[in-house]
Amino acid sequence: MYKEKFSLIDSITNIKNIITGEERIMEFTISAYTDMLDLLKEHNYYICDYTNYEDPKKSVILRHDIDFNLQSGVEIAKIEYSKNIKSTYFVLLSTNFYNIFSKESNDMLKLIIGMGHKIGLHFDEKKYKIENSNDLEYYVSFESEILGKAIGKEIRTVSMHRPSKWILENDIRFENVINSYSKEFLHQFKYLSDSRMHWREDTIEIIKSEQYDKLHILTHPFWYSNKSERIETKLFDFIDASRLNTFKNLKDNFRDLEEYIDEDTLNGVDFNAR
Ligand SMILES: [Zn+2]
Repeated sequence: MYKEKFSLIDSITNIKNIITGEERIMEFTISAYTDMLDLLKEHNYYICDYTNYEDPKKSVILRHDIDFNLQSGVEIAKIEYSKNIKSTYFVLLSTNFYNIFSKESNDMLKLIIGMGHKIGLHFDEKKYKIENSNDLEYYVSFESEILGKAIGKEIRTVSMHRPSKWILENDIRFENVINSYSKEFLHQFKYLSDSRMHWREDTIEIIKSEQYDKLHILTHPFWYSNKSERIETKLFDFIDASRLNTFKNLKDNFRDLEEYIDEDTLNGVDFNAR
């Protein structure tokens, strides 16, 4: 029911924007993201990573944080690969949404690596008791080692998931891992982010203006879809899909599940009424 409702609202919003000429900063569609990549190239930004940005006069670091699902990361990775662009995908270990050790997730990470992209650690400081930068470094190294072993690649970069004020306001550096929230990457670069599906500044205009030699662009692949959708649609669809995913996981781990629940009738069954 909500699907029809939100898809109707999406259509109305799109029509309203066309009629009023109201321009959005940048749409959250795969094609808008692709256009942004083309624009960066047109304006001679060299696409680099956290280690090779210094030499080119104009460079951009493309960072992707994978907060909810890896599949969306794979989709963006493919687009970039088709354009010979390499970026960095930051993945969480301490999350309930995906598991870097599951075959499905691990295969996706290897697919992303196979396309020439890098994997970094997305770190959630709230999952540990961290009182100072030594504690932080200890747990970042701890998770980096585990992630590195799981994917067979050394982890060289970390990005923070929902960073605290303390992280943002201090220039925290680690011995073996580059902190994407250190001063260098937040202040020497023009930092642009689509957090909570909202660009705080007009990214497209900033690229076109060539006002900044160094750009650091954070995108969350989860927000990008084939057509323009409201945030509610994306969130509801994700929750919806989790039902089928749980069914599949159960099927892999519980013999003859379909004697009890049939996949075809999974949707629309009111389990409370049974
Ligand atoms: Zn995050």
